[in-house]
Amino acid sequence: MDKLVAGNWKMNGGLASNRLLLDAFTPVSGVDMLVCVPYPYLSQAQKRTPSIALGAQDVSEFPAGAYTGEVSAAMLRDFDCTFVIVGHSERRALFHEDNATVARKAAAALAAGVTPIVCVGETLAERDAGRVMDVIGAQLSAVLEVLGVAAMARIVLAYEPVWAIGAGRSASAEQVAGVHGAIRAWLATRGVDAGTLRILYGGSVKPQNAAELFAIQHVDGALVGGASLVADDFMAICRAAAHR
Ligand code: PEP
Repeated sequence: MDKLVAGNWKMNGGLASNRLLLDAFTPVSGVDMLVCVPYPYLSQAQKRTPSIALGAQDVSEFPAGAYTGEVSAAMLRDFDCTFVIVGHSERRALFHEDNATVARKAAAALAAGVTPIVCVGETLAERDAGRVMDVIGAQLSAVLEVLGVAAMARIVLAYEPVWAIGAGRSASAEQVAGVHGAIRAWLATRGVDAGTLRILYGGSVKPQNAAELFAIQHVDGALVGGASLVADDFMAICRAAAHR
């Protein structure tokens, strides 16, 4: 299975700077590339990146109707989005999304044929308290409860330790290996056929640490924030993931 490298632009960009960035992204063989852009730029990215998958950074839990400001999964499909990030730690912390909401968003995405990239991960305080898998287990349980065992195998997971996001310092190889292995085991003991379920790592992935991270067992790709806004860096990370 090829690795998936997903760029999360967050709330950055503009028509002119996007054009430069998107034009610099070229497909790399042996890796699945994805850019998750802000909603208003989906159309621009759709036209300019036909060979790179397109995604969004959030989605409504509702299919349609009187939900001012929301964007449905079916709307994302209209722009050829095949992936959507749900439950990013910024949405959990800043917009008060709880585990149940994240789970309903994942279900809404799947129902419309969009693959949710469900983000899980602990804060530093939770890690220091030895609660990493308690926290991640609760995040995963909520999704499993809503999706069920069969659909759970069709999502992508992203392990993003909150303390490593935008920090300039990723989790260590040992920490990443430990959590990815524990997530795989968690899924297996609950009967999820996770053979093709990808678990991405996210948190300060850069060209300098990408190869080391991609060499870790159960790391099936990366969710990249800051470095996805620098064309050379994103391309270097994609090349590091190719044929691994
Ligand atoms: C992210 O926002 O998902 C992320 C991992 O950010 P960064 O790569 O900047 O740490």
